[in-house]
Amino acid sequence: MRDPGRFERDVLAPIRAIVGDRGIITDADAKQPHLVAWRDNWTGAVPAVVMPADTAQMAAVVAICAATGTPIVPQGGNTGLTGASQPHADNSEIILSTSRMQKIRAIDLDNDTITVDAGCVLATIQQAAAEAGRLFPLSLGAEGSCQIGGNLSTNAGGVQALRYGTARGLVLGLEVVLPDGRIWDGLRGLRKDSAGYDLKQLFIGAEGTLGIITAATLRLLPQTPASATAFLAVPDPAHAVAWLRRARKNLGENITTFELMERRCLDIAMRHNSRIADPLATRYDWYILVELNAQGDEEALRQRLLTVLEAGIEADEVLDGTLAASAEQAAALWRIREGAPEGQRLEGASYKHDVSVPVSQVPRFIAEADAALAARFPGIRSFGFGHLGDGNIHYNPIQAEGGDFAEWQSYLPEVNRIVHDIVIGLGGSITAEHGVGRLRIAELAHYKSDLEMEMMARLKQCFDPQNIMNPGKLLQPELLARHKA
Ligand code: FAD
Repeated sequence: MRDPGRFERDVLAPIRAIVGDRGIITDADAKQPHLVAWRDNWTGAVPAVVMPADTAQMAAVVAICAATGTPIVPQGGNTGLTGASQPHADNSEIILSTSRMQKIRAIDLDNDTITVDAGCVLATIQQAAAEAGRLFPLSLGAEGSCQIGGNLSTNAGGVQALRYGTARGLVLGLEVVLPDGRIWDGLRGLRKDSAGYDLKQLFIGAEGTLGIITAATLRLLPQTPASATAFLAVPDPAHAVAWLRRARKNLGENITTFELMERRCLDIAMRHNSRIADPLATRYDWYILVELNAQGDEEALRQRLLTVLEAGIEADEVLDGTLAASAEQAAALWRIREGAPEGQRLEGASYKHDVSVPVSQVPRFIAEADAALAARFPGIRSFGFGHLGDGNIHYNPIQAEGGDFAEWQSYLPEVNRIVHDIVIGLGGSITAEHGVGRLRIAELAHYKSDLEMEMMARLKQCFDPQNIMNPGKLLQPELLARHKA
């Protein structure tokens, strides 16, 4: 049991001396938003949320934590979905937030790079890139709140990953505060660098377990102002894959977004948001939202999409569809996609699977998971939607209507195992973009080989032998104990 007086003297007072009163929150109400997850499904307690103003302050705070063995929960926008950015309940950790580190440090148009503090909100970076006449293509539903440090630490994907890859591919350099408080300045904007291990990649997707990212040098791309957006009805996911093949052949890298959604997702989105409407006159079972982007003529781009759409109708891959005629119409189509997760959140307790399988296996995954869950848990409502273009499906079973919450909770381990067994059997991954956190910590250990888990544990021991960086996330404590150096 920690002595509060000693903790105040050895940890909080020295931290306060570094960050000042503005950089530390101890008031219960002010701490609350940092303790609770977006979906209210994770919470915890900390004596303080610390918000350093710059890298030097961050390093000095981490050095105090290292010297006193104080565990740290790194936090960005707190929009993560796996319980990785919330503390445990025992009040033993501090939250180290990057929220006051929001500087755009530099934009270099010869190199096509932008260097930013880790606390920059993703939408702010997109905006800064746009004002400089460039594109920063990472884009996700939480972009108005999530921060780039969190995006990199989860290797976020989002709705344009099909064309531009995940966050990992957009990073050229990082600055990181290591668990002992030293600063690694790896902010190189190099396009090519073969000098040894690519250390920055270790911190990307590490969920704050290896160090705190304090800044990043990111790639900028040419803007693609012309866009064409369509909402199509397809008979089933297999036909969606067939039309994707046709679209890829004919439209190539102009396809930025290719999202699949089953009817239930549209119904729930409409039920919970009066601004969302069915854009088609007839009711269908499955839909695709597709968006193309290009530098050139928008009308020509729309025409190309229309031609491939008509060929799809001819081949019975597509049943119906509408092509947005204006930016407002495109936004209305996007609202359907963006309303799907929010509608599900409001609909009842759900389990958010964020799996990936080879694109060709998506239809089989959805069919097998639906059948297996329906057989085992009558009344369960499964929602399949997401980034079909890169094989990443958000597959969210929701409790039966009027079902008992406690009973639903008790089903979760089995629901998980059923879904994940199918995913792994099809050569997939149990998480494609949200990460492991606490939510999938046992599942990760179950499905990865012993050798893979050992390599991860040894890396963790190498960077953070005291296990003070986000303990109990991603890697189970017993695994770390087993592989102690
Ligand atoms: P946080 O939630 O604060 O933290 C996430 C993880 O990163 C934690 O482990 C935390 O400890 C660690 N961390 C945070 N900052 C740092 C840092 N500076 N250094 C080291 N570790 C750090 N995700 C997708 O990938 N694709 C989507 O399409 C998508 N859509 C979403 C839509 C909605 C509505 C919501 C609520 C979430 C969505 N997410 C999506 C999940 C979430 O937005 C992403 O995981 C995002 O990248 C998290 O960023 P954050 O700043 O909120 O990080």
